[in-house]
Amino acid sequence: MKKYQRTVYLDNNATTRVDNKVTEYMNHYFLQDYAVASSQFSHTPGIKARDAVEKARSIILGKLRSGPGDQFIFTSGGAESNNMALKGLALTNKDPSRKKIIISGIEHFSVLNTAKALEKSGFEVKEVKVDGQGFIDLEHLQSLLDEKTLLVSIIYANHEVGTIQDMPKISDIVHQKGALLHTDAAIAFLQTPIDVQKQNIDLLSLSAHKIHGPKGSGGLFIKKNIPVQKILDGGYQENNLRPGTENVPGIAGFGKAVEIFKEKDLEKVKGLRDYLYNGLGSRIEHVLINGSKDLSKRVANNLNVSFEYIEGESVVLHLDMRGIAVITGSACFSRALQASHVLLAMGFTHERAHGSIKYSLSKYLTRADMDYTIKQTKEVVEKLRDLSPLKSTTF
Ligand SMILES: *Cc1c(COP(=O)(O)O)cnc(C)c1O
Repeated sequence: MKKYQRTVYLDNNATTRVDNKVTEYMNHYFLQDYAVASSQFSHTPGIKARDAVEKARSIILGKLRSGPGDQFIFTSGGAESNNMALKGLALTNKDPSRKKIIISGIEHFSVLNTAKALEKSGFEVKEVKVDGQGFIDLEHLQSLLDEKTLLVSIIYANHEVGTIQDMPKISDIVHQKGALLHTDAAIAFLQTPIDVQKQNIDLLSLSAHKIHGPKGSGGLFIKKNIPVQKILDGGYQENNLRPGTENVPGIAGFGKAVEIFKEKDLEKVKGLRDYLYNGLGSRIEHVLINGSKDLSKRVANNLNVSFEYIEGESVVLHLDMRGIAVITGSACFSRALQASHVLLAMGFTHERAHGSIKYSLSKYLTRADMDYTIKQTKEVVEKLRDLSPLKSTTF
């Protein structure tokens, strides 16, 4: 195999490299202050562990612009937080007249499949439509909402196409009928300003490993007086809402990742993404952008495109041989063995979904990485098109 010139990791919506400052900080809680946080009343090491947990909590709550009485409960990540938001609210809901849950078709599997599970336990689940760029159809949302609606769960920014929803508007509509709003903000967090008070968000899920923090760490924001109950039974950790020994290094690392975030890193990523988009668009023919065409309404690190007339799988394999790691919405690479449900919910044909390639960026990339990616993508796409029997396929 020909040796490639460089490695370019472009799958940062799946996970990110942990920042060195985060691993160093975490190491302290693996090697030195490694006591359990619930020993805070017994000994000094316990107090130090507790302090690390509470410091992380206050950093994260501060970043979310939370108000008095609001909580942030640490969990094993975004997926668990989504489960806790939906099940923790639904299964303990005291109002028998509110049995309806509204989600969108572009949710992460951890919301989609949790909603399906709740449907089996007697909840009515409705799916709000999205348009071709991945924006929630607000009129449809309005028409689905009624006094029977308990919860609306809408992904803040989508993990495949990066579309950022108009959360303040969604929040206004949801609260008109007395329903509650949950949002999965794993991708949106630190990429678009979130203010849980101004935007009136009741529940919000986060994941540390999408923001250069560790895997297996995340949490659920719960606004004051929102009656979410625990979904796991055990000890009394996390305000008696999430049992199990606190993952002190993971929690500390999550807080550190938030603390060291810099606006200028985001600007850098946005600049690289726009450069990549312009490079691909100007140097390769028949490139369609998937998700918001207005780049300001998609997260800074996401570019999702379809190269007409070729299969995404082939592009992914060829780019991987050249050291470039990207993802396709195609069926064969999906554990669910179907084309991306996100792209299909946006009304894409199977062909366009199969041809989609997601480039998701991070602060660790350079202009040279983008030049390499553009050049290699152009070569691969042109080579595959020369061989392609799909020339007449319509997208
Ligand atoms: C990654 C991701 C999750 C899952 O988070 P984990 O911490 O991996 O469980 C949930 N929602 C979105 C939008 C994600 O991108």
